[in-house]
Amino acid sequence: MNYRDLSPETLMMGYGYNPELSEGAIKCPIFQTSTFVFKTAEEGKAFFEVAYGLRTKRPDEKTGLIYSRLNNPDMEILEERLKLWDGAEACAAFASGMSAIATVLLEFLKPGDLLLHSAPLYGGTHHLIHHFLAGYGINIMSFTADQTADEIEEMLIDSGQHTRLRMILMETPANPTNDIIDIERMAELAKRFSTPENKVYLAVDNTYMGPLWQHPLKHGADLVIYSATKYIGGHSDVIAGAVVGSEELIHRVKVLRTFLGNMISPHSGWLLMRSLETLKVRMEQQALNAEEVAAFLHHHPKVTRVHYPLYLHETDPEQYHIFKKQCSSSGAMVSFDIAGGEKEAFMFLNNLKLIKLAVSLGSTESLAEHPATMTHVDIPEEDRLQMKVTPSLVRISVGIENYKDIIWDIEQALQKVKVPELHGAL
Ligand SMILES: *Cc1c(COP(=O)(O)O)cnc(C)c1O
Repeated sequence: MNYRDLSPETLMMGYGYNPELSEGAIKCPIFQTSTFVFKTAEEGKAFFEVAYGLRTKRPDEKTGLIYSRLNNPDMEILEERLKLWDGAEACAAFASGMSAIATVLLEFLKPGDLLLHSAPLYGGTHHLIHHFLAGYGINIMSFTADQTADEIEEMLIDSGQHTRLRMILMETPANPTNDIIDIERMAELAKRFSTPENKVYLAVDNTYMGPLWQHPLKHGADLVIYSATKYIGGHSDVIAGAVVGSEELIHRVKVLRTFLGNMISPHSGWLLMRSLETLKVRMEQQALNAEEVAAFLHHHPKVTRVHYPLYLHETDPEQYHIFKKQCSSSGAMVSFDIAGGEKEAFMFLNNLKLIKLAVSLGSTESLAEHPATMTHVDIPEEDRLQMKVTPSLVRISVGIENYKDIIWDIEQALQKVKVPELHGAL
């Protein structure tokens, strides 16, 4: 077995780092520095030639450290490790998930191009596309998990805009409803509308499944985007993002990042390296806990519906089939409808004792929120209801606490909720 064949979870402790270059420190220190000293002017010249693409690197030549907007050991070693989970050639790390998404969209789309995206999207992404990119002459179309690939293809052709299609951006499972979209089918669609001059790129925001449970590159995606604030960071103490893909595409993303200046900071890079050492154990425990939480909610009389991929086989065998094909776990995000509406959902949230009432997800501690008035408030009500983001919907990000404690909290908060029908009968 050679070093490259080791599992990602094994490599997270030291891959890409040489202690000899840092006084023998077992862990990569924080390189809190803006600039790097060149040994000679010739060396500085050589580093710049490579960094600015004036010539390609010689086989034995190392990329020199120049300036922390271009490169920094904490950023580079983090990228070396992050790409392993998806089996990607390269990775670019960012100051936030939003800066990763914005940089990808700005690099691959020009005025007049068409962007096709899945709906619902993360609220910030939706805003960026509809309130910013639209104003720069980018055409936008969306589709939902209910549409088949054939229906989406027909919609594109009927619109007459299909020749302008340059990128498909999708999120699956959808937040907060866990609706599943077939990555492979969307990759086929991208290929179908690609021409020799213009390739249509498929980008998947994989934040909801983290780098452990779904690997979109293996199903034909070109780029995978993460809010590293979520599972990758995992401790609710850092904002960061990442994009993984081929050497060629990530090189383009990194060049734009250099000039936008939205790279990850040395300190955040260091925090994420620390987080990656426990990524697998954290996520696996979260998934086990989520399964218990979902099972409890599934049978509770005050819960009318649970959105959790494992239960798709009861309601939607086709979606269940796609889920089994592309995900290795149901994840740790469970959402459910409480009997009643916003009032009952708020009663539940206000009575939680252990679970924190906060947005964000994928962290060690369990979090609960109300999508319709919080994360998804930007979406017009009619669209929201069509996406099943109802006033009675509550979203829980399940943490690594003892699952019995999490369930105890949910049970006692549900007890405090007065269900309208029972109330009226009195
Ligand atoms: C949180 C999130 C983002 C934005 O990431 P930030 O790190 O907050 O900038 C993008 N997409 C999804 C799916 C998210 O959950």
